[in-house]
Amino acid sequence: MSPIEENLQAVHARIERAAHAAHRSPGSVHLLAVSKTFPAADVRAAFDAGQRAFGENYVQESLSKIEALADLRARIEWHFIGPLQSNKTRPVAEQFDWVHSIDRLKIAQRLSEQRPDALPPLNVCLQVNVSGEASKSGVQPSEALALARAIAELPKLRLRGLMSIPEPTGDSEAQREPHRILHALFDTLRAEGLALDTMSMGMSSDLEAAVLEGATMVRIGTAIFGKRDYSH
Ligand SMILES: *Cc1c(COP(=O)(O)O)cnc(C)c1O
Repeated sequence: MSPIEENLQAVHARIERAAHAAHRSPGSVHLLAVSKTFPAADVRAAFDAGQRAFGENYVQESLSKIEALADLRARIEWHFIGPLQSNKTRPVAEQFDWVHSIDRLKIAQRLSEQRPDALPPLNVCLQVNVSGEASKSGVQPSEALALARAIAELPKLRLRGLMSIPEPTGDSEAQREPHRILHALFDTLRAEGLALDTMSMGMSSDLEAAVLEGATMVRIGTAIFGKRDYSH
C-alpha cells in the first residue's frame, strides 16, 4: 500500500470514529483531499486509492495540475478553497467544480458571468469569519444572510453552503466553538429559505471537532499528503 493510501485509510477511520461518536452516518461526511503544494503524481496516487474530490488554493499551481491530470478530469471534482482575487476568477470559473472561499459579491458575480454555458452551475460556499477579529478573511456572520441571498440569485452559481477556517487551537473543546457558530448560521440561513446542504469545516488537526459539530465536508491536507514545503 502506498503511504498516501495508508494515510487516506487512517483519515477515513478518524471520520468514521467521529461520526459514530456524533451518532451520524460516516457517509454524511465527505472528504476533500487538499493537495496544494503537492505534485500531480500525489493526486494521482490518491485517485488510485479511491479519492475523487481535491482542494487547491493557488490558481497557477492548480491549473498546471489540472492539465497534468486531464485524463482523470471527468472523474475528479476540483474545489478551489484559497483566497481569490477578482483578476483571477476566469480560469477558476472555467476549470473548477466548486469554490469554497467566496466572501464578496463582486467575486461571485464575476464567477457567474465567466462560467461557461456548456458547464453546469459552479457550486459555491460562503466563507464565514467565525474567529472574530483574529481573522481577516470571510464575511461577518451578521452579513452572511444578505450576501447569501444575493449569490443565490446568480444564474451560473449554485450556493451550496458555508465554509470556515477557524484560528488554530490545540484544545479539542475550544476547537468546537467556531464550528458551532457556523452550524448555527447554517440553520438560520436554511430557516430563511436558502437550500443549503454543505458545511465545509474541519482540517487535519480539528477534523473530530468539526464532525461532532455537523461538518458535511472536511478539508484534509497534511494528514493525507504529509507536511507541506513552501520553499519552492
Ligand atoms: C491548506 C488548507 C486545508 C488543509 O489543511 P491541513 O491542516 O493540512 O489539513 C484546509 N482548508 C484550507 C482552506 C486550506 O488552505
